[in-house]
This record gives sequence, structure tokens and C-alpha cells, in this order.
Amino acid sequence: MPAKTKTEETMNFSLNEDQVLLQETIRDFVEKEVIPYAKEWDEKEEVPLNTLKKLSSMGIMGMAVDQKYGGAGLDTVSIAAVIEELACGDGSLALTVAAHNGLGSGHISRFGTEEQKQKYLPDLASGKKIAGWALTEPGSGSDAAGMKTVAKKDGNDWVLNGTKMFITNGSIGETFVVLAVTASEKAIHELPPQKKITAFILEKGDKGFRAGKKLQKMGMRSSDTSELILENVKIPDSRRLGELNQGFINTLMILDKGRVSVGALAVGLAQAALNESLKYVHQRETFGKQLKDHEVIRFMLADMALEVDTARLLVYRAAAVAAEGKQFTLEASMAKLFASEMSMRVCNKAIQIHGGYGYIREFPVERYLRDAKLCEIGEGTSEVQRLVIARELLKHYKI
Ligand SMILES: Cc1cc2nc3c(=O)[nH]c(=O)nc-3n(C[C@H](O)[C@H](O)[C@H](O)COP(=O)(O)OP(=O)(O)OC[C@H]3O[C@@H](n4cnc5c(N)ncnc54)[C@H](O)[C@@H]3O)c2cc1C
Repeated sequence: MPAKTKTEETMNFSLNEDQVLLQETIRDFVEKEVIPYAKEWDEKEEVPLNTLKKLSSMGIMGMAVDQKYGGAGLDTVSIAAVIEELACGDGSLALTVAAHNGLGSGHISRFGTEEQKQKYLPDLASGKKIAGWALTEPGSGSDAAGMKTVAKKDGNDWVLNGTKMFITNGSIGETFVVLAVTASEKAIHELPPQKKITAFILEKGDKGFRAGKKLQKMGMRSSDTSELILENVKIPDSRRLGELNQGFINTLMILDKGRVSVGALAVGLAQAALNESLKYVHQRETFGKQLKDHEVIRFMLADMALEVDTARLLVYRAAAVAAEGKQFTLEASMAKLFASEMSMRVCNKAIQIHGGYGYIREFPVERYLRDAKLCEIGEGTSEVQRLVIARELLKHYKI
């Protein structure tokens, strides 16, 4: 399956031979197994579980997991390439895969004990079980440390109570990472977030733990977003993930990687919008000539291509810095912020180029715009990214 635009090929300077092969394999899969069905999945608002099974057999559901636990052990650049290609076919599918790999499995991979990794990662890597990651609550999103879910020690066990909100893979997931406040009630208001929150692994079937309402969304409709309800869920201390009260700090590290994936997802959606626009300008005639021969339309295409590539460069820079094992908070937030806002602009322009046809569901560009909006919200809103970027800039500025 060839690249659609020339710069998609020249952008490959940042990919090695294996990564280009991987990109081509996923592009081919998306062409045959995703693009023809994405519209139907969106309408039915259903996760395409069979397609996830096919991706599992290709190793994609375990792409971030170490080979020792049955995963493919891919680096951050390869993962970004996979997410971008999937999003070019279906944003929801890319979101499902990204949340499973980067958030749920990623947190266990990075901070789990050897015992926890052996217990959970093989099933997650093979796609037998889907992972979810639960930070957000009905009353706390950007201000994640304001969470109300509590875990109280009871002998050698923990008892968790609370509600999580907007959890990707909430209904279909079987293994969850859940963040909860572990400081005593007395200390809760005195302690900073980095000293009062802990992560736990919850399993579908734990008594008192269930998915709540499945949420109906504007976009990303064939990804699963649900509430999670925890009522006196008793779990042993062996399910504590990471050091006690280190959950928030660990979460910030997980979010850095997640933001590179959301950036890649946004780039994939925008590339799809550009591809559809390039096709359409050859089909539609107005005032006696094809749309592609109107200068205003050409300028729109040029701006779209420029924006997509600019964002892609930022995303692959962040991925490359992460793959080198360096600090990449600033690069990740820049990539996520620019790529998601770019995606909205480019998808919006694609609708404009399609005129009335862009506004109806027969053409995919309206879906791309609906899906792209999530990228400005999930894993830290655009406003939060600006706060992070400014904080990082000031932190590193030396007088
Ligand atoms: C489809 C979908 C999937 C998601 N998946 C997951 C998941 O798997 N796991 C998970 O834990 N969460 C998930 N989320 C939650 C997501 O991360 C939050 O929605 C997001 O972080 C924003 O939080 P909020 O919705 O509470 O908005 P709020 O925090 O209430 O923000 C509302 C508005 O105020 C702005 N704002 C807030 N604080 C400030 C400030 N200090 N300065 C300037 N502006 C500010 C925000 O940018 C935003 O514009 C998902 C959300 C959606 C929609």
C-alpha cells in the first residue's frame, strides 16, 4: 500500500527499516480491514472486537509489552507509527489500542513487580484481556489530584470506594489500573498530590467493582467509554501497583507517553482528512473546472499538508526523545497540543473542501472532525498542555 502524499514517504527519514516495514504492514491492514468498516462501527457505536483479535494476532495488542512477557517490545517511535496508521483508518480503533497499550498495560509494565508482570502482562499482550486505566472522576479531570476515590488499609488488604469517569475500555476491559487516595483523612488536605495517591490493579469480577453507564459520545463512537464504580472493593496488597503514595508521580510519566500516542492519533486523522480532500478535488467540478484547479482550494491543500507534516515532526521528535530514554515531558506536551489543534483545523478544512457533502455522514470527513475533538481533551486538555509547556520552559530556563 503506497503512501498517499509524497511527504508521507520523505517523513520516513525518522524511521528505520523495521519501522517502515511495520508502518506498511499496518497501512495495508487498515486499507483492507478498517477503512471499509469504520463508518458502520461508528454508527453502531460498537468496539470491533473481531478486528482487535486480528490486531492481537499481529502482536499489536502487546506492542508496548516486553518480549519476556509475550509482547513485541516496540519502541516509542514504532508505537507512534502504528497509532498514526490505525487512526488514518479509524480514530476509535486507534484510541482503544492506545489506551490498552500505553495506559493500562504500560502502567503495569513500567511499575509492576515481577510477580504482577508475570500475572497480568501475558494476557494483555496476547489481547486475551483488554486493559483500562482509571484516573479521571466525575468531579476531577484536569485537577486529577482532587480525586475522591479512596483506598483504606484493612490488615493486609485494601478497601476501595469511589467512581471513575470517562474510562476508555471501561466496559470491555478486564484488567484496570485504578488511582486512589491512600493518605489518611487527616493528612489528605496537607499533603501534595505526589504524596497521597497510589495505583492498584483491579480485575473484572472483583466483588463490588463494575462498569457503570456506557457513555454516548460526539466522536470516537466505536471506542468504549464508561464509568467505573467501586463499592467496598477488597483487594490484597499484592495488587498495589508501585510504591505507596507514588501513584501520582508515576501517572505523570505514563501520561507523557500517552500524549505522544494522542499526538500520533491526531496526525493520523488529519492525514486521512487530507487524503480524502486530495481525492475529492479531482471528482468535483464547479464553474467549469475541477476543484483542484481553483487557487483557493490549492492553498487550502497546501496549508493542510504543511500542518500535518509539522505536527508529525513534533510527534516523532517526542517519540524519538522518549525512545532514547531521555526526559520528554516538554516534547510530548508540545506534540500533543499542536497535533490535536492542527487536526481540528485540518479536518475542518476537509469538510469545507467537500462543501455540503462534507457535512453528511456518507463521506468520512465529518467523522474525522468529531474524532479529532477528543484529542484536544483526553490525556490533558490543550489548556493543561499549555500549563505543562510553560512550566517545563521556566524550569529549564537558567538566568
Ligand atoms: C472519550 C474520552 C476518553 C477518555 N479516556 C480516559 C481514560 O481512559 N482514563 C482516564 O482516566 N480519563 C479518561 N478521559 C478523561 C479525560 O482525560 C478528561 O476528560 C480530561 O483530562 C479533562 O478533564 P475534565 O473532563 O474533568 O475537564 P475539566 O478538568 O473540568 O476542564 C474543563 C475545562 O476547564 C479547563 N481548565 C481546567 N483547569 C484549568 C486551569 N487550571 N487553567 C486553565 N484551564 C483549565 C480545561 O482545559 C477544560 O477546557 C477520557 C475522556 C474522554 C472524553
